[in-house]
Amino acid sequence: MIHVAVANQKGGVGKTTTAINLATALAATGWKVLLADLDPQGNASTGLGVSHAARERSSYDVLMGEASIVDAAVPTRVPRLDLLPAVQDLSGAEVEMVGLDRRTHRLADAFAQVPPGRWDICLMDCPPSLGLLTVNSLIAARHLLVPLQCEFFALEGLSQLLQTVERIRTRFNPDLSILGIALTMFDRRNSLSKQVAEDVRACLGPTVFETVVPRNVRLSEAPSHGLPALIYDLRCSGSEAYVRLARELMARLPQRAEAA
Ligand code: ADP
Ligand code: MG
Repeated sequence: MIHVAVANQKGGVGKTTTAINLATALAATGWKVLLADLDPQGNASTGLGVSHAARERSSYDVLMGEASIVDAAVPTRVPRLDLLPAVQDLSGAEVEMVGLDRRTHRLADAFAQVPPGRWDICLMDCPPSLGLLTVNSLIAARHLLVPLQCEFFALEGLSQLLQTVERIRTRFNPDLSILGIALTMFDRRNSLSKQVAEDVRACLGPTVFETVVPRNVRLSEAPSHGLPALIYDLRCSGSEAYVRLARELMARLPQRAEAA
């Protein structure tokens, strides 16, 4: 299984929207996909239409060692896309894990128990912080995808994230690599958006995906219907961008068979 963390310690930059829609696009191409919701807000779980009642076991139980990922995962309305749901208890996990063994490796340990072939890829939707939940994801992941909002302070937060990645690489997970940076919420009528996109490309070069996700109201409406935008409105500019982004992503990933 390929493990991809979708992380950025800033809130509201498009992590969850990116995770949901890329997961859907990958499932549509035939991959068996798991989306792991690691944000206590549970936006990915709600956005995929998984009710609170259906979150009997969650990422919290997995991190506490009280459930396996296979047992906690639930199907979604999207064929081949399963969800490891999040519940509010997860907000206590950062503190509770401090007292537990292998507190930084609890998610990686849980993934090690998943039978090969159960899923082809897992996308981990991280919370907006660099706390233990994100650290667990970065240690469980081989690849990191960073959504970056086209706004003035975008690059400032990024250097802090990259420092954390560097520290995790040195101490715990030398294989962690940056799969790519995805520019989100691009507003073509706003010259600042353009300037930020140019600066990010000048600074980070080919790590930045060609595809830029535009600001698109359909992307923000879809979660209230419990559906990925790709299913809510496949033709909107946001969905089209995520289809292109998924294509770029797949070109950067090992083939499904190799990864199994
Ligand atoms: P994060 O997970 O990083 O906090 P979200 O994906 O939840 O960010 O996005 C924050 C808010 O912005 C949500 O309400 C979401 O629906 C909306 N949103 C995300 N991407 C776009 C976009 N490209 N265009 C318009 N709204 C967006
Ligand atoms: Mg989120």
